[in-house]
Amino acid sequence: MSNLPHGFRYRLWRELGPGNVIVEPEQLRVYECDGLTGHRAVPELVVLPGSTEEVQTVVRACHEAGVPFVARGAGTGLSGGATPLAGGVVVSLARMNRILEIDLESQRVVVEPGVANLDVTNAVAVAGFFYAPDPSSQQVCTIGGNVAENSGGAHCLKHGFTVHHVTGLTLVLPDGEVVELGGKALDPEGPDLLGVVVGSEGTLGIVTRVTLRIVRRPESVCTLLAGFESTDMAGAAVSGIVAAGIQPAAIEMMDRLTIEAAELAVAPGYPTGAGAVLIVELDGVTEQVEKDTTEVEAICAAQGAFEVRSAVDDAARALLWRGRKSAFAAMGRVATDYYVQDGVVPRTRLPEVLRTIDELSEAYGLRVGNVFHAGDGNLHPLVLYDAEQGETERARALAEAILDACLDAGGSLTGEHGVGMDKACSMPRMFSERDLGVFARLRSSFDPDGLCNPGKVIPTPRLCGEVPGPYRIHPLERIGVAERL
Ligand SMILES: Cc1cc2nc3c(=O)[nH]c(=O)nc-3n(C[C@H](O)[C@H](O)[C@H](O)COP(=O)(O)OP(=O)(O)OC[C@H]3O[C@@H](n4cnc5c(N)ncnc54)[C@H](O)[C@@H]3O)c2cc1C
Repeated sequence: MSNLPHGFRYRLWRELGPGNVIVEPEQLRVYECDGLTGHRAVPELVVLPGSTEEVQTVVRACHEAGVPFVARGAGTGLSGGATPLAGGVVVSLARMNRILEIDLESQRVVVEPGVANLDVTNAVAVAGFFYAPDPSSQQVCTIGGNVAENSGGAHCLKHGFTVHHVTGLTLVLPDGEVVELGGKALDPEGPDLLGVVVGSEGTLGIVTRVTLRIVRRPESVCTLLAGFESTDMAGAAVSGIVAAGIQPAAIEMMDRLTIEAAELAVAPGYPTGAGAVLIVELDGVTEQVEKDTTEVEAICAAQGAFEVRSAVDDAARALLWRGRKSAFAAMGRVATDYYVQDGVVPRTRLPEVLRTIDELSEAYGLRVGNVFHAGDGNLHPLVLYDAEQGETERARALAEAILDACLDAGGSLTGEHGVGMDKACSMPRMFSERDLGVFARLRSSFDPDGLCNPGKVIPTPRLCGEVPGPYRIHPLERIGVAERL
């Protein structure tokens, strides 16, 4: 039985065409979750608009009828951002997947939001450019999703995150108005609304066009692999590299469990028996890369690396990266289920926090693999469990304990996967009531009716334990103890 107002489906069916409105229950189930598969909520309707005008039509219809909606890219998000928690409409941007303009002179590419991240680089590679933010999911995740999550990737250490590569946006506001933010130039006048929207996790409107900055391929690239006996030793090497004033494009670390899983999955040829490997990529002018490579090799050796080697050609480099980029999926080789945590710690605290994670893993009796952006201090502990053995709750508790350890070390809740619904309840651990109030007021200035991706990022009401589905008034809210913002 649909909760949508009478005539709502027909209106969208008429405006978008029958092929672009999904109503069949078994097809709707495809959209019930993103990469955080533990939480599911089936939408009432899925629409596939093909243009900004069609997105505007959908959003206007939702606004007029008071129906909640959520944008969806490829659904690879790991924090439940695209899960239709409050029912309503999923707006899939899958059909809006065209590269609209390549302006090499200005080093800009204009795309629709459904373009896959890697397709931007593929489109400009022949001219000697690339799009720098490179999430491991880059073959499928979309630019719209990247903008919403301010996504990162291995090469963001040197080149910056999505927010540093978006210069303009077209945004359909939650009442259906279309606004242009920025353009091809940097630093538009007025408040930094572009900076507000990038990373807002789909809560301020639907992005329908994005202007991206592309960068020139460096003259020279060197990718080094170093094998260590322990993560402590590898962590000391990371600190040594940074302290030497070297600026690698990427420094990634994998521990024993993730190395073994990656070997089983894609055989990248990591050193046998290593307790940790570092992948360090240096890029720039040839002389500098050669000098830095020698120095990084020496630092790794001084910290006890038992093997250090460089990729000899592009194929060898691609193989080293394939091991790293397939590490999450490779966990399927060693466990039936896993939960990815995404905490950040100050880089200098990495060895200590990794030791705490080991202790917690032992205390909870569950294995944890670590694969992460070491240069950024952005950890991705992979908590392995077996749902059929009833380990889900224990895994969740362990993941939360890991997050607490990150916060205790002066870190933060999320480096790149977002808060979504997954960590909304943890927000008060990092932000004060006042901070949360400011976030809520900012959000409601874009979306006073609370229809755009409700139930995400800011706890609403400021309590946990909300049940997916249509909004139900909480008992504490009813008696005036808590408020919904
Ligand atoms: C194997 C794997 C590896 C990953 N590696 C990384 C990594 O290295 N770095 C990283 O940062 N992330 C990583 N992720 C997480 C995920 O890929 C990113 O968050 C990505 O940006 C999500 O893109 P998407 O198109 O799948 O978005 P979705 O999951 O569909 O949506 C994500 C959020 O964006 C919103 N959204 C989507 N499109 C729009 C739009 N047009 N307008 C407004 N809001 C929109 C949604 O409402 C939702 O809140 C990984 C995920 C997986 C499964």
